Amino acid sequence: MKIYTDQRLLRTGLVGGTISRHSGNMRELACQQIAFDKLGIAPDHILHFHQVHSDTIIPIASTQQAQKYLSAALADADAWMFSPCIAGWGAAIVTADCVPLFVWDDTGTYAALAHCGWRGVVKGLPEKTARALLTLNPKLHLNAWLGPHIQACCFEVQEDVAAQFPPECIIRHENKIFIDLNIEIKRQLTEAGIPAKRIQAPYYCTCTDKENFFSWRRDHEKNLLLSFLYKP
Ligand SMILES: [Zn+2]
Repeated sequence: MKIYTDQRLLRTGLVGGTISRHSGNMRELACQQIAFDKLGIAPDHILHFHQVHSDTIIPIASTQQAQKYLSAALADADAWMFSPCIAGWGAAIVTADCVPLFVWDDTGTYAALAHCGWRGVVKGLPEKTARALLTLNPKLHLNAWLGPHIQACCFEVQEDVAAQFPPECIIRHENKIFIDLNIEIKRQLTEAGIPAKRIQAPYYCTCTDKENFFSWRRDHEKNLLLSFLYKP
C-alpha cells in the first residue's frame, strides 16, 4: 500500500496520511475496509462525516463522544479535532483535488484532520482548525502537513473565485488565472500561530500525477482518495 505521509507525524506515534489510488476508489466503503484491514486498523473505530465545504470542526475528547458519532447519522462538517487523541480511534476524509490538512502537536496528543476545498479555505477552515487546537492549549507546539491536492499548476479558476483570495496566491498566466492554495493555507496557519518552518506542503499534484492520484478536475469521475489519522 502506498501512503503519502509526513515523518514528523509518524514520529509522534500517530499514524496517518493519504493513500494512493492503487488501493482503489475510496468512495466504496469496501475499499476503505480493505485498506484499514491492511493497516491493522478497525474500520469501525474510524469516524466519518458528510463533507460540505464548511468551516465546521467536530471536537472529539472522549471515547463516548467518538461512539456517539459512530452510531448517529453522518454529521455535516469538514474537520475532526482530537483533544486529546484516543488510543484505538481515528478519522478519515475523502478528497479528489481538495486539500487533506493534518495538524498535530509535538507529543502526538492533540491532532486534527481537515477537508479543505477552496470554499473551506475561503471560509478560513485551516486557520480555524489551528486556532481550535491552540484555544484548548495555547502551549501546544503545532505542526502541519498538506497532503496531495490540486496544485497551482492545474488549479485554474475564473475571476469570481479568484476575487475571494488574497492577491498573493493568484497567478495570472496567458489570460488564465490559477490559485496557489498552499500560499493561502500557510498564511492562515501562520496567522493562527504555527511557525512557517513547521508547515510542510510537498508538491504532489493530484491533477498532474495520474498514476498515483484521482482528480475530479482531470477525470470528472467520482473517484476519491482516502486520508486518515489514527492513534494506535
Ligand atoms: Zn498540476
